[in-house]
Amino acid sequence: MRAVRNTDSGVRVLHVPEPETLADTAGKVVVDVVSTAICGSDLHMVAAGMQGATLGHEFAGTLADGTAVAVRPQAPCGACDLCAAGHRQLCRTGGERMYGVNLDGGMADRVLVDSAMVFPLPDGVDVRDAAVVEPLAVALHGVNRVGPVTGRRVLVVGGGPIGLCAVACARHAGADVTLAEPQRNRAEAGEALGARVGASGEYDVVIDAAGVQSSFDLAVEHTCPGGTLGLLGSFWTPVSMNVLVQMKEIGIVPAFTYGHHHGVEEFAAAAEILRDVPGLVQALVTHRVGLDDAAEAFARAADPSAGAIKIVLMP
Ligand SMILES: [Zn+2]
Ligand SMILES: [Zn+2]
Repeated sequence: MRAVRNTDSGVRVLHVPEPETLADTAGKVVVDVVSTAICGSDLHMVAAGMQGATLGHEFAGTLADGTAVAVRPQAPCGACDLCAAGHRQLCRTGGERMYGVNLDGGMADRVLVDSAMVFPLPDGVDVRDAAVVEPLAVALHGVNRVGPVTGRRVLVVGGGPIGLCAVACARHAGADVTLAEPQRNRAEAGEALGARVGASGEYDVVIDAAGVQSSFDLAVEHTCPGGTLGLLGSFWTPVSMNVLVQMKEIGIVPAFTYGHHHGVEEFAAAAEILRDVPGLVQALVTHRVGLDDAAEAFARAADPSAGAIKIVLMP
C-alpha cells in the first residue's frame, strides 16, 4: 500500500507493507483512510528532517464494518499520575506515541491504530471532511482553557487553520470574535465563520494562534488589563516577553492538543462542532488532492503565496 513519508529527497509516496501484517494487532483496528490533512506541524517536522513514521496526524476513515471514524492521534499511557487525573494531553510519556509523528500516521491507504483512539462520527459529518476534527479539537481545547468565553470579546491572532478553528469554536460558544489576519483569503474565511476582522482596542481574551513574535506582541497589546492570553499556536521559535505582560497582569494560558473538559471528551465535542457549524469545511479546506500528489501538496502548503489554508489528501 501507499504511505507518505519524509525521506532524504523530501516528502515521497512509498510502497510499504499492509498494516495487518504487523505481528501485534491486539486491541488495534485498521482504518481505511478517506481524508488526511497537512498540518503546520508536519511542515516543521519535514523541514527539520524528521524521518521514520508515515506522516499524518489529522485523519479519518472507515473501519472494516463500514463505521466512519475520526482518529485521535495522541495515545496516552492511561497509567501515569496525569492520565489518572484526567489530563491525558499531559501524559508523562504521551509524546512517545503520536500517530503521524513517531507511530505510522494517516497519510496512507490504511493505518493500524489503537481501538481506543477511534471516534465514530456523528450523523451529518462526512468522513471526507473529518480530517479536520483533529485541528478543531486542538482549537476547542485552547478555547476551553481560556474560557468560558460566552458573551465575551475574544480576539484570535492568526487566521491559519488553527486560528480559524478557534474562531469557529469561540463563536460556537457564544463569544463576540474578532480575527487579526493580514492575508485577505484567510481574513475572508474568518468573516465567513462570523468573526469581525481587524483588531482594535482591548479584548477580554486573546488567543495567539500563530506563535511568532509579532503575533505574541499584538496579542499582548490587545489584551485588556487583567485579561487572558491563550497560547494556541506552536512556538517553534522562542519569543521574548516584555514588561507589559506584568503591568497588565495578563494571565497566560498555554494549550496543547486536547483532553477532557468538564468530563466531556474534547475530540468528540469537536466532531459535533464540525456538524453544527455551517461553512466550516468550506472556510478551512482550500485544496483536496490524491495521495499520489502528496509531495506537491506539501510544497504548496509550505508556500505562503500559494493561498492554501488546509490541504486534504484523499487516499
Ligand atoms: Zn496538527
Ligand atoms: Zn500517561
